[in-house]
Amino acid sequence: MKGPRICELCSRLSPYKLTSLYCRWYPLNDQSVGYVLKACDDCVNESISPALVQTTEALEDISSCPLCGSGDDEGIEYTWVTIFPRECESLRTIGIGCSACAARFRRQWQAHGRRLADRPPPPPVGASDVWEAIGIVPKTG
Ligand SMILES: [Zn+2]
Ligand SMILES: [Zn+2]
Repeated sequence: MKGPRICELCSRLSPYKLTSLYCRWYPLNDQSVGYVLKACDDCVNESISPALVQTTEALEDISSCPLCGSGDDEGIEYTWVTIFPRECESLRTIGIGCSACAARFRRQWQAHGRRLADRPPPPPVGASDVWEAIGIVPKTG
């Protein structure tokens, strides 16, 4: 039986099936942190998508934070996000930001979502695999 479609971000009843948003990140020398969040279309469009779009647009040159432009590339953090939209195939993408922006992005899951069990990190892959997975083939050399 399906529960009511209450968005976990805005607590409003959604006329549509909610979008499931999974995210996970990998703190150094610690267990991974994963959350799932179910959100309505409005919240996905307003709160989640903009950061992912900004990240995707910045993928060719991540020397600064794609979200705030801060140049501290040592503090750049990656948040792996898998989205299950209502009528499309799942989309695996990545949110990139300085630690402050990453914290703000992740807080939406931490504040409203459900914590998932630890999972071992994915096999080490080159950055190019990441870009290919989201449909961008980087220039090499
Ligand atoms: Zn909502
Ligand atoms: Zn930032």
